[in-house]
Amino acid sequence: MIRSLFMRYGLIAAAVSAMALLGPVTQAGVMVSAESAPVAAALGHPTSVISIEPGQRDTAAEPLGVQAWPVPSRRSYHITASCQPYAAAIRRGAAAWAGLTEGAGTPVQCTNSYITGCGGGSNVVGCNWGSGQRIALFMRGVRDGALLAAHEFGHNWFGHSGFRCAGWGSAQEVMAPSMCG
Ligand SMILES: [Zn+2]
Repeated sequence: MIRSLFMRYGLIAAAVSAMALLGPVTQAGVMVSAESAPVAAALGHPTSVISIEPGQRDTAAEPLGVQAWPVPSRRSYHITASCQPYAAAIRRGAAAWAGLTEGAGTPVQCTNSYITGCGGGSNVVGCNWGSGQRIALFMRGVRDGALLAAHEFGHNWFGHSGFRCAGWGSAQEVMAPSMCG
């Protein structure tokens, strides 16, 4: 059952600046330790992803098309004024999930800096409070804003997967706890 793949629930809380100084070995260690921290689960539903290793991924991470992976229920969202510059990318991200439509529902806000109030952590680039009550995205903080949006929309239904870095290969990959470039 696909749900079981989403049972892991983590919050990555490592600083990009620290990672840049500490190098790749420590990056992996920080990720593992942050992933296993119970903070996010203990606080309920706020979830986040974080941008790590900025600029170091050399493969393009573009959606291959409309994925429309199955979800257990229908949801909707609307793009607020702060996200108008990023509306196209957000819509590409929303297309990852079947039954997710634009019009009402979850308000999507965009920030100009890392997101706070998401249950802890630093350099948080996305948050979904209350499994769809509200979503915030720091689109400029990531290379692939559509993937960030897809990830946060995914938290309407799912927690984090065991994948290390988010990608477009599968619903589980979208739900990795970290953006790696
Ligand atoms: Zn997340």
